[in-house]
Amino acid sequence: MVVGDAAFMNKPFSGEGVTSAFAACAIAADVAAEALRRDDLTRDVLWPYNARYFRDQGAKFAFLTALMPALVSLSPDEIDFLYSVPGVFSEEGTRALNLEYELRSDPSETLKALPALLKGAAAGKLRPASISRMARMAVAAGAIRKLYESYPEHPADFGAWIKKAIPLWKKADAERHAYFQRVLREYS
Ligand SMILES: Cc1cc2nc3c(=O)[nH]c(=O)nc-3n(C[C@H](O)[C@H](O)[C@H](O)COP(=O)(O)OP(=O)(O)OC[C@H]3O[C@@H](n4cnc5c(N)ncnc54)[C@H](O)[C@@H]3O)c2cc1C
Repeated sequence: MVVGDAAFMNKPFSGEGVTSAFAACAIAADVAAEALRRDDLTRDVLWPYNARYFRDQGAKFAFLTALMPALVSLSPDEIDFLYSVPGVFSEEGTRALNLEYELRSDPSETLKALPALLKGAAAGKLRPASISRMARMAVAAGAIRKLYESYPEHPADFGAWIKKAIPLWKKADAERHAYFQRVLREYS
């Protein structure tokens, strides 16, 4: 069984691999103890380590990894503007992101924020490209999280699961490449 950096990614937004690695270590210890109790160390019996990790923390990290290029593409002014609109970015949401790796948002609050967002967009405080990138990647990241939340319970289903994951990650990767190309253009 593999743990730590060699096994799973760190938090997509800040690294800090020690804390997030321990989430996987706790599952690994549980699954290993059960396998030893059953005296069965086969892949099938150890597989719940993968399933339990990816259905929870792994799914959250996958979501954030896919969404991150859209978030970091926002300009400092756009981020300031989004913090000024109630229901979008908040101190509480940022705290939840660090503690539970989830971007918390209340859909009804976000809906209430829509007129202010539209007003901001009309006033040039939010670029149309940023809005479309955020919307596009939120959909792709949501689909990735959903797929990870249904990570196969049995290794026999892994091949079919991967076939669904690859096109989604290709979409997310294209956005990441575009982000780095923009950064390189800006600083070269
Ligand atoms: C600059 C930096 C800052 C960080 N800051 C933080 C932070 O503030 N908070 C936080 O939580 N995390 C932080 N991290 C991440 C954290 O350090 C890692 O997530 C964590 O150390 C991973 O632990 P690990 O045991 O999985 O791997 P490692 O600590 O990398 O241990 C792997 C070990 O295996 C050894 N090894 C490699 N190959 C072989 C071999 N063939 N044979 C024998 N031994 C081998 C290596 O020498 C190493 O000692 C930071 C990382 C970096 C690089």
